Amino acid sequence: MATPTVAIVGRPNVGKSTIFNRIVNERISIVEDTPGVTRDRIYAHGQWLGHQFNLIDTGGIELGLDMFQQEIRAQAEIAIEEADVIIFIADVKTHLTHDDETIAQILYRADKPVILAVNKADNPEQRQDIYDFYSLGLGDPYPISGSQGTGLGDLLDEVVKKLPQDEDHEEDQSIRFSLIGRPNVGKSSLVNAMLGEDRVIVSDIEGTTRDAIDTKFVDESGQEFTMVDTAGMRKRGRVYESTEKYSVMRAMSAIDRSQVVLVVLDASRGIIEQDKHVAGYAHEAGRGVIFVVNKWDTVEKDTDTMKKFEDKIRQQFQYLDYAPIVFVSAKTKQRLSNLPDLIKRVSVNHSQRIQSAVLNDVLLDATRLTPTPLVKGKRLRVYYMTQVSANPPTFVIFVNDPELLHFSYKRFLINQLRKTFDFEGSPIHIIPRARK
Ligand code: GDP
Ligand code: GDP
Repeated sequence: MATPTVAIVGRPNVGKSTIFNRIVNERISIVEDTPGVTRDRIYAHGQWLGHQFNLIDTGGIELGLDMFQQEIRAQAEIAIEEADVIIFIADVKTHLTHDDETIAQILYRADKPVILAVNKADNPEQRQDIYDFYSLGLGDPYPISGSQGTGLGDLLDEVVKKLPQDEDHEEDQSIRFSLIGRPNVGKSSLVNAMLGEDRVIVSDIEGTTRDAIDTKFVDESGQEFTMVDTAGMRKRGRVYESTEKYSVMRAMSAIDRSQVVLVVLDASRGIIEQDKHVAGYAHEAGRGVIFVVNKWDTVEKDTDTMKKFEDKIRQQFQYLDYAPIVFVSAKTKQRLSNLPDLIKRVSVNHSQRIQSAVLNDVLLDATRLTPTPLVKGKRLRVYYMTQVSANPPTFVIFVNDPELLHFSYKRFLINQLRKTFDFEGSPIHIIPRARK
């Protein structure tokens, strides 16, 4: 569950985003109707030798600070705060610079493994020039070339070696969820209202492990919940905390660590582009999703106000048609007590497993109801469906030719599954395979 994070730091133009893209290697598949997900590529998933990690390009955060020195300082601080392992990139062509030394000095103070990579070592002579960089005191520099892709294997071997071991895989019965949304929609207010003023938040100790930023509570039935990244919802006043890209990155990381994501909208403001960004990511990441429309107390209501708002959400977030919508107020606490139950239900739906026999009855009925399409004179044939994993529910469907399973028929099958089983709040993935 807790995927480690690797951050890339370094001066502008040393090749951070080039290396970032190399490591991510375009593995991100863009779901056709999800807008805005991969626009800002500063956060993505990487993997090496079966080790998964999240990767951040701190250079892409662009804090817009006046002083260049402040900017790289803040970026290095973000790396220290967010990452388990830091890749510090320098440029062999410019040799060692004063700014490299500044960054190194900030990184020394962190209790995090730092791996020094010297980029643009495109040929053997340049690879000789990396010895200067020993003076940074960060151990052996790794010569790499982002444009040629050389040296990355050794670098990633070292990264993987330094990743934290997956030790805390204790049976976690806690339902992990996060509240995401742009600033001022009321996330912190919701957190406080849900926890109740008298409940002490014990786990918020700044600067310790990642878990310390999560908050646990228990509902009446004894079900434990973990609110992910509670600390990120409070403003702590660092320069970078209020920048959009930083908060988006933070939200993406919280989504990755959650099973259910509460997308918080502000009823008094309506829906804006920024809301779609993180919601799209939650969908892409296959998390359970609930829309929480907050500040419902501020809205003048008549009989169909709620319906109208619902329609607007459905229109703006078409790909999230499975997400339930609740209208709440952190201020008056209206309907807040329903939230834990709803989160629990979505969590159950998200992790449910359906037996193949039942599944194939549904499939048979579906194909009878709507015959499979004819594509360029060839008919799609579906033979068998089986659930291969949960969280999110993922089904493999065996067909004569995977190319023939178009979006619309896939959509139809997903809808049939939704009609038969309760998958509210959960995405459904269908993967076609050719039957041998
Ligand atoms: P960033 O500002 O650190 O993210 O740097 P970029 O990734 O945008 O790269 C800055 C420039 O360096 C671009 O023009 C890249 O094409 C170039 N560059 C990146 N990696 C290499 C490399 O390994 N060798 C050479 N010669 N140029 C590179
Ligand atoms: P965050 O940035 O998403 O964490 O938002 P905050 O929780 O800091 O709330 C932003 C502002 O909205 C504050 O002034 C809150 O008092 C106000 N607010 C939050 N929830 C509600 C609500 O349900 N109703 C009303 N009227 N105001 C709210």
